[in-house]
Amino acid sequence: MRMVAVAPDPVFRADIDRKVVNLSTIDVAGKESANLMCSQCGTSGKIAVPKLPHRYYKVRCKCMYDFSIEFNRRKYTRKQTNLIATYSTACRFADYIIDIVDLSRGGLRFIRTDANILCISDVLAIAFCLDNTERDFIECTALIKDICGNHVCVEYLDMDGRMRSILGFYFFNP
Ligand SMILES: [Zn+2]
Repeated sequence: MRMVAVAPDPVFRADIDRKVVNLSTIDVAGKESANLMCSQCGTSGKIAVPKLPHRYYKVRCKCMYDFSIEFNRRKYTRKQTNLIATYSTACRFADYIIDIVDLSRGGLRFIRTDANILCISDVLAIAFCLDNTERDFIECTALIKDICGNHVCVEYLDMDGRMRSILGFYFFNP
């Protein structure tokens, strides 16, 4: 087990450990440090995020209380979805049906069954309805970031401001 010194006078010691006890998730996207608080004795302190590259750590407080933390390094929360959508490319007139399997405020991942040749950095026009009560319609252009078999990950390039805020609400009210 690798020990990580977290401060000159470490209040918390973090070890890599997949055995999860009293897990809390900490959003650390773009952050250099994160605040921790021991729920047992109330001690709080900072830990240096760049020194802790893994996802799960077990933390031991100076009071010997153990708890687990999970670092969420994603900028946006993602939601597993099963939304029918369509996409088209600049060079084709047809709309192709796809299945959006996860969605965030920054992009989405879909599964396709067509045989079109798609490449990283291609731009697609994507349209779908959310599964909220209003069934809001979202339309955007998106840049392909990654392709793995029939899974395609895209990042939004251009989205109407109103649709952007609808998506924000969608994630704000799970
Ligand atoms: Zn403590």
